[in-house]
Amino acid sequence: MNAATRRASLQLPYTHVDDFYINGSWVKAEGTQRNPVVDPAVGQEWGSVPEATASELDSAVGAARTALKSWSALTGAERTGYLLKIATEIESRSEALALTNTRENGSPISETRGAASNAAGIFRYFATLAPWLDGEDIRPFPAGSAESIVDKDPIGVCALIAPWNFPINLVVIKLAPALLAGCTVIIKPASPTPLSIRFIIEAIEAAGVPAGVVNLLTGSGRFGDALVRHPGVDKVAFTGSTPVGKKIAAACGELLRPVTLELGGKSSAIILPDADMSVLSTRLIRSCMRNTGQTCYISTRIIAPSSRYAEVVQTVASTIAAGRQGDPYDEETVFGPVASASQYSTVMSYIDSAREEGARVVAGGTRSISLSEGLESGEFIQPTVFADVTPDMRISREEIFGPVISILKYDDTNGVSEAIALANNTKFGLGGLVFGADEEQALEVARQVDSGSVGINFFGSNHSAPFGGRHESGMGVEYGIEGLSAYLTYKSIHRTI
Ligand code: NAP
Ligand code: MG
Repeated sequence: MNAATRRASLQLPYTHVDDFYINGSWVKAEGTQRNPVVDPAVGQEWGSVPEATASELDSAVGAARTALKSWSALTGAERTGYLLKIATEIESRSEALALTNTRENGSPISETRGAASNAAGIFRYFATLAPWLDGEDIRPFPAGSAESIVDKDPIGVCALIAPWNFPINLVVIKLAPALLAGCTVIIKPASPTPLSIRFIIEAIEAAGVPAGVVNLLTGSGRFGDALVRHPGVDKVAFTGSTPVGKKIAAACGELLRPVTLELGGKSSAIILPDADMSVLSTRLIRSCMRNTGQTCYISTRIIAPSSRYAEVVQTVASTIAAGRQGDPYDEETVFGPVASASQYSTVMSYIDSAREEGARVVAGGTRSISLSEGLESGEFIQPTVFADVTPDMRISREEIFGPVISILKYDDTNGVSEAIALANNTKFGLGGLVFGADEEQALEVARQVDSGSVGINFFGSNHSAPFGGRHESGMGVEYGIEGLSAYLTYKSIHRTI
């Protein structure tokens, strides 16, 4: 099927919408400004959403403040009942959600088909933490004559601001712990991906979550800034780029408003001298170029030993070149387009800079041609691998957020310390990988990588383990009890015994 026919047959329920979800109902937008939604595989607008006004923001925050009173009064166990229903309702919307998400940002359908079950899994995981949340915590004074009851109170009304690369997951990892904690929320999705999140709102409604607990507004970065600074907001949870994260941190600093920031990355895969090339090849795309290179934690810098450099370059180049690129609606597609015209120009300018700085193209390196009919105007960049990258080059230091891998070399004649130093030589600290046959040595190396998460021969995200970045990759963590704690504020009540 060609791209146009396929799109004509989609019948997506949300395309051009003119409302927001405020206080338990869909409310027609009062303003006239609209923001387009573009399918990056064909370069055509197919949807649009309204820009929320200041008074709509006031209404949503007001609804969340009112709902906070009764929602926070429930026990964790009572709120868990809602979380489990939401999970089931999300799963029943899986296909429509996936089709919408793929049209928004060009993520391959094989990726977006997992979004609903992943979201349901996150709700179910947080539901398991209700006993911890509800459990009584009493701590004796060290001197013995008194004790403290440690209460875990919800932090309040939370602004949840998400990027476009995983528009469902990156909202749900905030929403599920916020709801369990007893918080109420206002969600602002990224402008390229404002529609798929409506299936999560549908699920919230179907699960009977009380009015005002969850509100959805759409708008630009300027609207996001107004949300961050709104006097009725108690906490901000943000995932996105480092420059925007710094602006939000500055605003929250002035307001002394708690904030969680999950920001950019530039992670490295260290190849140890004993690494198995077939393991590298099997795990490479998922760990180093997932979602056409638009994943925050992937290891887009490969640090290869001089003793096996040519072999690593050959393995990486041939694996990437063999990944099929095409219509993201095609189930066989591994690499889609990048998510927008602006991402296209940013990524292409990095490719140009790498050439100018002397890196060697070993796969890709240009706009993609010979795709199937109808994709000629899409934002397709060939998955690209550069060898002979040195640490000072821009592509080695800056986040590209597109399908580009850089291979650097370390001298392994006297061990692997140079590899660790190279991996730690960025301003970020989000992910990382160590490929090696000796798991003990790989663990030893992983412990020396200065980042929030490191994988050994694979990378995954574990809902029960904290995920977050160091340095310019952010502040605070999501997932796990630690991620739930970000939505709590502790109170110690002292009494004599
Ligand atoms: P972005 O440009 O920083 O935008 C993220 C969100 O912030 C969007 O909803 C955006 O709205 C909004 N925004 C923009 N300016 C704002 C402001 N001044 N105040 C409040 N909100 C504002 O990021 P992106 O381009 O969507 O996403 C890609 C980035 O996200 C990459 O850097 C990637 O590494 C990072 N990321 C990090 C993680 C992690 O967990 N660490 C995970 C995924 C992605 P508009 O869309 O309307 O501009
Ligand atoms: Mg942006």
